[in-house]
Amino acid sequence: MQIVADMHTHTIASGHAYSTVNELAQEAARKGLLALAVTDHGPAIPGGPHLYHFGAMRFFPQTIGGVRILTGVEANIIDPDGTLDLPEEYLQRLDFVMAGLHEGCGMDGLGSDGNTSAVIKAMANPRVKAISHPGNPIFPLNYEMVVEAARQTGTALEINNSSFVISRKGSRPNCESLAELIARTGAPVIVGSDAHIAQGVGEFSAAIEVLECAGVREEQVVNSSLERLLAFLDLTF
Ligand SMILES: [Zn+2]
Ligand SMILES: [Zn+2]
Repeated sequence: MQIVADMHTHTIASGHAYSTVNELAQEAARKGLLALAVTDHGPAIPGGPHLYHFGAMRFFPQTIGGVRILTGVEANIIDPDGTLDLPEEYLQRLDFVMAGLHEGCGMDGLGSDGNTSAVIKAMANPRVKAISHPGNPIFPLNYEMVVEAARQTGTALEINNSSFVISRKGSRPNCESLAELIARTGAPVIVGSDAHIAQGVGEFSAAIEVLECAGVREEQVVNSSLERLLAFLDLTF
């Protein structure tokens, strides 16, 4: 399985990451990627960027070093209604909106029922194309329900490579369960590095291993070809 685009990366604007857009793009080019999504954390993350950061992504060139650059956000789900920390007028201008649960953003300690219902409500938002790191053990989810909602809404669930090597310890068995359900139901899935420094861009090997072991088909992985990815995001070449 080949991943042609890194759909989860952070720049210095996230407040706890260490590279610029140009540095991420150069590393993407060096690793032979065709596209790179810049998905800084939404404003609710402690130390996160102002709303204007996302509005100003319109200044990005379409390509850097031959790599297609996609404007994006890893928005925070901030309440049990699935509300995001970026208003619609900002969401609509971005190429790729991913949403997820993070500590310190209003969703701590709700438990599996509250988390699951918030994530499913966020998936019902047509702007939300993917859910970041649903395998995070800090925010337990009912995986059967989440995978079924992903299948119904066409929202991709992320298998996040960092979850196996750096972040969110204990994610692996959860991600393996998710991948098995994804394989069985045909729900869409997306792979991201979650790089917080340029060297992490394009690192996908553990995520690919989990998907292949579970028998997820390449056609289900929305960033396994540029054509498939752009169609998924309703973008043109
Ligand atoms: Zn995250
Ligand atoms: Zn992230």
